[in-house]
Amino acid sequence: MDAGKIYYFDNNATTRVAPEVVEAMLPFLSEQWGNPSSMYQFGKSVAGHIKSAREKVAALIHADPREIIFTSCGTESNNSAIHSALVSQPGKRHVVTTAVEHSANIKFCEFLQKRGYEVTFLPVESDGSIDIHLLEKSIRPDTAIVSVMWANNETGVIFPLEEIAAICRSKGVLCHTDAVQVPGKLKIDVAELGVDFLSLSAHKLHAPKGIGLLYVKRRTRYQPYVIGGGQEHGRRGGTENVPYIVGFGRAAELAMAGLADENTRIRGLRDRMEKNILGAIPNTLRNGNRESRVPNTSNIAFDFVEAESILLMLDQAGICASSGSACTTGSLDPSHVLTAMGLGPARARGSIRFSLGSYNTAEDVDYLLEQLPSLIAKLRAVSPTAGTHHGGAGHAHAKHSKKHTVAG
Ligand code: PLP
Repeated sequence: MDAGKIYYFDNNATTRVAPEVVEAMLPFLSEQWGNPSSMYQFGKSVAGHIKSAREKVAALIHADPREIIFTSCGTESNNSAIHSALVSQPGKRHVVTTAVEHSANIKFCEFLQKRGYEVTFLPVESDGSIDIHLLEKSIRPDTAIVSVMWANNETGVIFPLEEIAAICRSKGVLCHTDAVQVPGKLKIDVAELGVDFLSLSAHKLHAPKGIGLLYVKRRTRYQPYVIGGGQEHGRRGGTENVPYIVGFGRAAELAMAGLADENTRIRGLRDRMEKNILGAIPNTLRNGNRESRVPNTSNIAFDFVEAESILLMLDQAGICASSGSACTTGSLDPSHVLTAMGLGPARARGSIRFSLGSYNTAEDVDYLLEQLPSLIAKLRAVSPTAGTHHGGAGHAHAKHSKKHTVAG
């Protein structure tokens, strides 16, 4: 272990800001601080840089720049799409989504239910996949929008968005996808995909946190969520976050340039890591479909141990990963994603997500593989039920249980 080095396996939570992105942003945090809406040149030149960033992010998803609305984050993009669909079709009060969405969708849909809207949360299969026929059957005459994520943040499982969008089109229903976990991992072509709305968040793409976008297909009726000034062609009020928008544009350029090669490299690292963990550590299991998932994510259940204990020990070794569980005030809630896939609470509470990124190296994986088996063995040695049960019934519980939620 390099003293002080962080071995970062949590790229689905957030990513390191690329130095090229920082460099692109700096002028807009110093000398170029004009307001892009101003009439004079000092402001107008800044507006020019927003235009150029808009073109770059549009190119990343093969959209027209006029179809891009910059937002503050992926959460805002998701909320805005569903909000717009409901407000622009007041007679339609039903939303279809899935049980495994990010809380940015689930919580908003639960809020809508409290306001009298109806929401169908579609179940998933044990490998995290979706039953497309069930989705089709769940669409009703009063369905305003189908909102289904493209790639799951916990398992990496990919939903067949093209098919889902085609079903929506045939039924005349708007289709939104939370594609926050997709850029840099899969090619995005909104025309091929056929969705009406698509959400992205820049911090999953080596740009800073606090900037996102919503793609709105041309001629789709749109009702702003953040109401105020005429920014973003009247579709999102608020003075533009210029440095972050510029950074997002640069990150989009970098992601496009590296897509094919980087994915092959990262997939190779991920597969080697996963194969070795599953091979070297008994009573482990991959969660989620092996094939149909993004190339960087691996979610593994470690029977007889609590994810929280593993994470604490990994942290001591300088390794960052995350659990698929949300822990509130000392009682561990198993991940809603893994639970929806049918994992029992014990197995779900013993699951860890490893997510790789551009800055991971073969040495990082070697180091993880060197640390993990002995660490799990140590925890199992103090687990009251390890060796006496199968299926992860017992756990070595972390002593200092602290409040946390799964990030990203
Ligand atoms: N959707 C998914 C699938 C995510 O992984 C995240 C990440 O946190 C979000 C939405 C929310 O994005 P943001 O953090 O930009 O609000």
